[in-house]
Amino acid sequence: MLDFCNHLDENKNRILKQTALLADDLGYKIYLVGGTVRDIILNKEPLDIDLVLEGNALEFARILQRCLGGELKTHEQFLTATINWPDFSLDLISARKEIYKSYGSLPEISLGNITDDLKRRDFTINAMAVYLMDGKLLDPFGGIDDLKKGLVRILHKNSFKEDPTRILRAARYLARLKFKLEKSTYKEIKKAKVYLTDVSSSRKKNEFIKIANEKGGLKALKLLEGWGVLPYILPGVKLKKINKSFMDYFNVNIGLKEKWLILLMAIYWQTADQLQDILKVRFDLTNKEKQCLEWLINNKALLLRLTKSDIKLSFLNIHRLLYNTPPEIEVFLLWLLGEKRKLYLKEIKMARQQIKLPLSGKDLLEQGVPPGPMVGELLSALEDQILLGKISSRDEALKWLETRLEN
Ligand code: ATP
Repeated sequence: MLDFCNHLDENKNRILKQTALLADDLGYKIYLVGGTVRDIILNKEPLDIDLVLEGNALEFARILQRCLGGELKTHEQFLTATINWPDFSLDLISARKEIYKSYGSLPEISLGNITDDLKRRDFTINAMAVYLMDGKLLDPFGGIDDLKKGLVRILHKNSFKEDPTRILRAARYLARLKFKLEKSTYKEIKKAKVYLTDVSSSRKKNEFIKIANEKGGLKALKLLEGWGVLPYILPGVKLKKINKSFMDYFNVNIGLKEKWLILLMAIYWQTADQLQDILKVRFDLTNKEKQCLEWLINNKALLLRLTKSDIKLSFLNIHRLLYNTPPEIEVFLLWLLGEKRKLYLKEIKMARQQIKLPLSGKDLLEQGVPPGPMVGELLSALEDQILLGKISSRDEALKWLETRLEN
């Protein structure tokens, strides 16, 4: 039983064996699917394990969690659940059927069997399943063959029209796996790319985030540019202007959740004819994200001056740029400064060391600030005011505090 899973590390293997036995006892059929099967066949250790259950995956997940521990998260609406352990997670999905009533809109979903579930998937290499009880492979679309040939191929002609985000996914897999696009799949991309106009901004953003988090993210974007798809995602960008090493900094230095945002700013900075075009990006942006993009445009002149090698970095300049901005801006600035990064960090450290605050935490409490995080926040805001040259004495500091507290 389960030879297929012997590739996996001991812990995952043990959990999958227990899952298979429990499902069998309860009369459920359960399968490994999607990227998990693909990665195991490619001899790669999958990060997460995706399982499809014929039946209600929520009910099963609750029982499984009681037996195996871990932290259970359920998504009632989609009948899916995730169990997290410190080193990996298990995604449990109820097998489903999807019917697209019109192109580009979300499909109607109903419960189905494993064949229905494989039919709704994006590419042949992701449309395989392994029956967990006996390790038997289901490969109705020739996924193994395509894995051997190194091809990304859609399951049917209208796949991209039904869900144009699959075009972005194709580029991501090509870049990651170093595969080629099957010929007719390429033709369908050409026909379906216009449908990306109708895709919601949150779905486009999600796929862009996944691309940005890939080591080969730039390669994926360059593929999209070659297919004429990039204007639907990043209008006004010309990636031909940047070279391979561009991604190195981001891959090595930025592990942030917001890596995509910093990368987006860097791409526009480096390659857009008009920096303003960044505001044409139709992603579902939060206020903080909008603030970052606007900051980039509003500070273009100063940023250009700072990057010139003969301009000295003054702390005041830097502080003006960073005042009241989210931390992602500083991460972007560090990228932008390149060689001058070390000077920048030294300058900041020196300025912070030299600063003497005219008020202490105790003073703040005496002035009526309630104990708690507000004390630290006010001291840091006071530091900003001093660095900006707006406050230079204790009296001015007290006045400033009074106004802050009134507001
Ligand atoms: P990986 O394939 O490495 O897990 P991923 O993080 O993109 O990458 P998900 O987005 O979680 O994977 O998708 C998991 C599986 O769900 C895919 O292997 C694919 O079979 C299917 N899938 C995801 N998005 C789509 C889509 N838009 N259309 C069809 N199938 C999809």
